[in-house]
Amino acid sequence: QPVLAVVGRPNVGKSTLVNRILGRREAVVQDVPGVTRDRVAYDALWGGRRFTLVDTGGWEPDADGLQGSVAAQADLAMSTSDAVLLVVDATVGATATDEAVAKVLRRSKRPVILAANKVDDQRLIAETASLWSLGLGEPHPVSALHGRSSGDLLDTILEVLPEAPRERRAPVAGPRRVALVGKPNVGKSSLLNKITGEERSVVDDVAGTTVDPVDSLVELDGQDWRFVDTAGLRKRVQTASGMEYYASLRTKTAIDAAEVVIVLLDASEPLSEQDLRVITMVSEAGRALVLAFNKWDLVDDDRRHQLEREIDRGLVRVPWAERVNVSALTGRAVRKLAPALRTALESWDQRVPTGQLNSWLSDLVAATPPPVRGGKQPKVLFATQAGIRPPTLVLFTTGFLEAGYRRFVERKFRERFGFPGSPVRINVRVRE
Ligand code: GDP
Repeated sequence: QPVLAVVGRPNVGKSTLVNRILGRREAVVQDVPGVTRDRVAYDALWGGRRFTLVDTGGWEPDADGLQGSVAAQADLAMSTSDAVLLVVDATVGATATDEAVAKVLRRSKRPVILAANKVDDQRLIAETASLWSLGLGEPHPVSALHGRSSGDLLDTILEVLPEAPRERRAPVAGPRRVALVGKPNVGKSSLLNKITGEERSVVDDVAGTTVDPVDSLVELDGQDWRFVDTAGLRKRVQTASGMEYYASLRTKTAIDAAEVVIVLLDASEPLSEQDLRVITMVSEAGRALVLAFNKWDLVDDDRRHQLEREIDRGLVRVPWAERVNVSALTGRAVRKLAPALRTALESWDQRVPTGQLNSWLSDLVAATPPPVRGGKQPKVLFATQAGIRPPTLVLFTTGFLEAGYRRFVERKFRERFGFPGSPVRINVRVRE
């Protein structure tokens, strides 16, 4: 979703205008220099379009002097947003600080909109003409306090903001798509047969013309599921080494076609490289993940302890995966698959509101700032959740964040917001 940064000196009414745009009171914090806000970014919605609104007042740039500090904000705003809204006080006119900021913003390749605030009275409109001198085009008179013309201002903002990229299909009614994958002989066809209960299963000939049915439609736990690409599972699969390549190609196809993937593992055997490769494939493809440990009927206490150690070692990269211990043979815990799938999909579809996200993030980076690199302390300015399926965060920073710190952020993010069963992507956008 596109980002609009709001810039301006203290006391021009930035926060009031931000609240006006957000249509609620939550952002109101006094515009006191030196006071850190706990939130800097918010979700805004106007005319059916969503964008992220960033209040640069919360950034506290460490430049000395107000003029430098506001100009530094403008500089950061330019490099992290798709458009900048500069707010000036129409009752005061353009100050030296406003001019310094305007000078920075005129270099911007991004659109800049000039809002002349505190035009509480029609008679003041004429006076806003003097603000043309800032060289940022037409001043838009507005009264954040009374709401006058803020709708027009928002229309202007939407004109210059890029359209949000289309999100992958929103949750739809109807069956959710599941892939069941795992190495040969792990028990895929046994499990599928158990789940579908043979005759109760509805076989859906998706291709329509081919002989092999491709998907299986199954009702589990009061919900329809489409198990994708199950044709090969219903027959005994050839496992001669020559088939390996085709098997893995098939796995990739099934994963890509699915929203959530059950990786079936043989609990009676050590976790194999092949198992780990498939798990990595799922998380890299950005699909929700359920790990089902099959043949649990063969697991005794010794094996269970051993397996726990293997899991600790082998599955460090996916501690968030949902886990179920099943037996396709006895039917043990097969009922637990559907709730696990549902949990994973809920996480996959989940969105954290920008305000909450930034409130959490500012505490986190204040307590544990990113490590210094090349003598410089990278600053994390704000974050948005840019997408779902899988949930994807974008952190806007002033410098490169090491992989270790990104993992730390993900771990803390999950401690706070959960997301069980779904990968979470964390992208970093460093200001140019
Ligand atoms: P696929 O190649 O993954 O489809 O595996 P199959 O479903 O053909 O199963 C391979 C073998 O494992 C068969 O002999 C099954 O009877 C056996 N099997 C499958 N699930 C279980 C289970 O939960 N427990 C036990 N003990 N054996 C199982």
